[in-house]
Amino acid sequence: MRINGFNIDPGSNREIKLLICKLPSGSKVSVRARVFRSTNPGPTVLILAGMHGDEINGIEIVRRCIETNLFNQLTSGSVIAIPVLNTYGFMNFSRYLPDGKDVNRSFPGNSKGSLASRVAHVMTKKILPIIDFGIDMHTGGDNRFNFPQIRYTTGSEEGRELAYAFKPPIVIANSTIRKTLRAQAKTKNIPIIVYEAGESLRLDQDSIAIGIEGIKNVLRHKNMLEPMPQHDTDCLSFKKLSWLRAPQSGIFIWKTPSGHHVKKTDILGYIYSPIGEEKIPILATRTGYIIGHNNNPVVNIGDALFHIAYE
Ligand SMILES: [Zn+2]
Repeated sequence: MRINGFNIDPGSNREIKLLICKLPSGSKVSVRARVFRSTNPGPTVLILAGMHGDEINGIEIVRRCIETNLFNQLTSGSVIAIPVLNTYGFMNFSRYLPDGKDVNRSFPGNSKGSLASRVAHVMTKKILPIIDFGIDMHTGGDNRFNFPQIRYTTGSEEGRELAYAFKPPIVIANSTIRKTLRAQAKTKNIPIIVYEAGESLRLDQDSIAIGIEGIKNVLRHKNMLEPMPQHDTDCLSFKKLSWLRAPQSGIFIWKTPSGHHVKKTDILGYIYSPIGEEKIPILATRTGYIIGHNNNPVVNIGDALFHIAYE
């Protein structure tokens, strides 16, 4: 295997650096990837985190997988582990690059574009051509918590297989958003599943543990790790998502967080006026399952409060 001029032989593992460009100070900024190869042939898998630099759970998942030598135990195939794709955002506690753009809205990217476009271009040119499938890890942004869930592209049989192999609590089939990694990979028939869990700038131990188990489950499913006795897990699946929004501005206190079934008209929380004259109940507008909620206590009318999955 050859990435960006580096050879990685079967049975070896090594770090490679993908240069993005220089900071104004002159320091070079690279994406660091660790590549692990079994001596036996098999699929090449991308394990990606930190596309949004403030989404730390995925970064910690990759770190713990490497720390515990998980990928050194491959029985076949190869893993390309990238813990922090957006190095700039990671340093600045930000989803974005200094150009104000989102890498996951910049694919396929451009070698002469601004920073986000260059990061996307490196992924498109150097990594996508050599992988068979990928797991891309994210969290909720803007103080929003996501209950651990896998998303795959509607209609992708391979994506569906990977999603269920992960054994997450929730599986969601949805269409891709333009200019995302998942949409770009789809044009090359490469299935990418997205693990969404927790909240930006917060480590959530349950989200991390489920993510690590999920990666192991997928690698075992693909015969890339020694098999283990499998226990059946309950996995809820949904096809539609809807945000329940604030009917009024004020102090928002949720009563029912993510990870719960709700029935239409259930009271999920309240919005209070700071001066105490108002208490507005937030009623579920449909029957479904809460897969995400807002942890910001100060909300404006129309702000997203609960993400409800249904069907
Ligand atoms: Zn994200």
